[in-house]
Amino acid sequence: MRLALDEAELAVRGGDVPVGAVVLSPDGETVLARGHNEREAGGDPTAHAEVLALRRAATALGSWRLPGCTLVVTLEPCVMCAGALVQSRVDRVVYGARDEKAGAAGSLWDLVRDRRLNHRPEVVEGVLADDCARLLTDFFRGR
Ligand SMILES: [Zn+2]
Repeated sequence: MRLALDEAELAVRGGDVPVGAVVLSPDGETVLARGHNEREAGGDPTAHAEVLALRRAATALGSWRLPGCTLVVTLEPCVMCAGALVQSRVDRVVYGARDEKAGAAGSLWDLVRDRRLNHRPEVVEGVLADDCARLLTDFFRGR
């Protein structure tokens, strides 16, 4: 999560909301990919930290399937990213701060654990939640 927080701070340079993500290898030892929110920087509505990190991890592994992998992200995934996480077949999603307004991994929705879907990653929430939330609060206070 510390690596994801470092990544989140990079988003601010491009004027983006600080959200960062990393994808870990199945043994948890290797960071396969990193990503931070680049929606403003790239003018891309889908350039959320999770989507970028998943794409890069898939490129690194040479496959769209990421079984055994863990995605760590500073903020609870939105609906789009929750969908991407299910599609990528990651085993585990770890997030920091909850997003009560748009979260899709336990807050507003729980898409990643919807029993109607054929893949349901394990969810671990609240890891360094205060640090993750503070980064966002500071960003919005500065606006
Ligand atoms: Zn998202």
